[in-house]
Amino acid sequence: MRAATHPARLAQGAVVTTLALSMCAMVAVSANARDGGSALIPALVPGAVQVERARAGAVDVAGDAIEVAETVQAEGAQVAIDAAQLEALEAATDRLDQLLVEATGDVRVEDRGASRSGEREEKVVAAATPAPVDPSAPIDPASVFEQTPAPAPVPLVPPTTGKEDETTAELREAVAAVATLTTTVRQSAEVKRAADAAAAQAAAQAAAEAAAAQAAADAAAQAAAAQAAQRAAWKQSLLGYANGKIPDSALCGVSFDASVRLRCDAAEQLDVLNTAYRAQFGSDLVVSDSYRSYAGQIACKRTRGYLCATPGTSNHGNGIAVDLGGGIDSFGTKQHRWMAAHAPDLSWGLPSWAGSGGSKPEAWHWEYLG
Ligand SMILES: [Zn+2]
Repeated sequence: MRAATHPARLAQGAVVTTLALSMCAMVAVSANARDGGSALIPALVPGAVQVERARAGAVDVAGDAIEVAETVQAEGAQVAIDAAQLEALEAATDRLDQLLVEATGDVRVEDRGASRSGEREEKVVAAATPAPVDPSAPIDPASVFEQTPAPAPVPLVPPTTGKEDETTAELREAVAAVATLTTTVRQSAEVKRAADAAAAQAAAQAAAEAAAAQAAADAAAQAAAAQAAQRAAWKQSLLGYANGKIPDSALCGVSFDASVRLRCDAAEQLDVLNTAYRAQFGSDLVVSDSYRSYAGQIACKRTRGYLCATPGTSNHGNGIAVDLGGGIDSFGTKQHRWMAAHAPDLSWGLPSWAGSGGSKPEAWHWEYLG
């Protein structure tokens, strides 16, 4: 661990040892003075002890400050905060490290710098290997802070009550600079972490919404394809029957009139057309005739003559024609105009021969053209 091997700690031990030896020497010298020895040295020693003690304290704090700064530096690098903030903190830490070397004097700057750089890389590598995360799980931004342990305080060198040397003053100043920049980097890292978590949550939510939209689109496409296939099957369903010879079981009804019988796709679309018609006029389509059997066509011809087709040729016998009333049976009415405008959307229309300019105008006769 960093604390066990940091040169500052070793240097600090040397200073404390020196301090202890100095105090022993002071006691020894004082004893000598009482015994009539030199009186010059004892007068200098108390001041020197204060200076040594202050410096030892500053060295201790400086080592702790570097520890905290390097940890925060690694955290800031991991979440990629503003590079200028990281560079400023690193420069201040290097400056403090250099002062520490000068104060303890037993480790060369290049060696310490190389060692520290190596440790920083180790920390960054360790920090950059996060635990596996389930990308589909929603991220709670608050959890980022819950998982982050309470940050270590950034130490400061306290003011000296007695004497201190220039090295101690410089260490205090350098530690304060490191502390300020460490706090800045730490705050930036927290903000960045929260922003990253929020962005990840937003991305996950967007992905979930996109997936849901895609699933809905797929389902709609499947339903449309199934409906188209059904219509195609219905369109083929009566091919085996002669005109007017279709069993009732092969035909379909509509929801708004129990008497209507049609080929199933024609019936389905007439139901949709009726819904739109009712929304416009407040009443259902009036259907006076739909499928007409061969016998029915003979009877029609007999009773209505010119108005009925030759038996076996009418599309009423194929289950794809209706005769409509309720205003649609006259050209120029609002109901007829509405049908002419909207029925083609559902594959229903007035055949050209039945139009107002056709060979046999019949405003009431509409056919399914799908
Ligand atoms: Zn007709």
